[in-house]
Amino acid sequence: MLGAKAIARAKLNLFLDVGDLRQDGYHEIRSIMQTLELSDELYFRRTDGANGKIVTRCSNSCVPCGEENLVFKAIKAFAMKTKVLDEEGIEVFINKRIPVGAGLAGGSADAAAAIVAMNNIWELDLSTRELIDAASLVGSDVPFCILGGTALVTGRGEKVESLNPLSGLKVVLASSGQEMSTEQVYERFDSLRSNSDFPDSGEVEGKFRALIEGIEKRDVSGIAAGLHNSLEFATIRRDLVIEYKKKAESAGAVAALMTGSGPCVFALVSGLEEAAEVAWELEKLAPVTIVTSFSDIGAQVLR
Ligand code: ATP
Repeated sequence: MLGAKAIARAKLNLFLDVGDLRQDGYHEIRSIMQTLELSDELYFRRTDGANGKIVTRCSNSCVPCGEENLVFKAIKAFAMKTKVLDEEGIEVFINKRIPVGAGLAGGSADAAAAIVAMNNIWELDLSTRELIDAASLVGSDVPFCILGGTALVTGRGEKVESLNPLSGLKVVLASSGQEMSTEQVYERFDSLRSNSDFPDSGEVEGKFRALIEGIEKRDVSGIAAGLHNSLEFATIRRDLVIEYKKKAESAGAVAALMTGSGPCVFALVSGLEEAAEVAWELEKLAPVTIVTSFSDIGAQVLR
């Protein structure tokens, strides 16, 4: 096969508990991640006689092309492991729809889609486990983006365990449109974590249990009771996050939370009518407002 199209779906963190900084520079995390319908599209073209050349282009000029692009990094790591690019090359066009640097893991989703597409284009037939292992070399959120759905993610992101699917639940996303550096937010988190405002571990455990139960029963109120993100505390634009959350809740959202390192906030809603109402109100404040729903599908290749 010479060409392929892949779908890279965004993710939310329904729960994100950040632990200690490890020797390898990563933080230990315990997260429940959720794939969204909101996605980028990646178009691949295999190039003969290009001696391993990887070319990436993106519809959004804010995203770096070349070696800085996570798709480039993923393909390079995958090619080193599988030796698929010894003689040929690959060109990738990224049709970007996921807001960049918002906590929705757009770059990681693209990287995961690239790994799945390379496996498919070269007909390697690697198992999901092998794809997840390759993904863990690229970044913390990439293994989850391979599997998708609703999952408990631990370690530095490499341990991914599927939970009951929640597909179809609706969310409204609101973002300032400004990019937030994940590294900077983690640094702030490390320096602020001794602060007395920080939620105590008993409270966080209670939320985790409520969320697991809510997911098992597919109960939106239970899920809402368990939403938690340790990084909300450390985000640089906490004022905006608080403003978007209040607005969403007063407009009828069941609950609202920042995703990942932010600044995007998601508002969980009970149906389409509530989604419309919440989107209507959030759009008055947030430069980027998107209505989408939970999906069970991870990185996917379409022929
Ligand atoms: P996460 O939630 O995984 O921390 P994020 O959603 O906050 O990530 P991304 O949209 O993944 O952020 O972008 C983070 C950075 O990665 C941006 O500064 C961007 O320039 C860079 N980047 C590299 N490759 C890509 C890509 N394919 N798509 C988006 N950003 C990319």
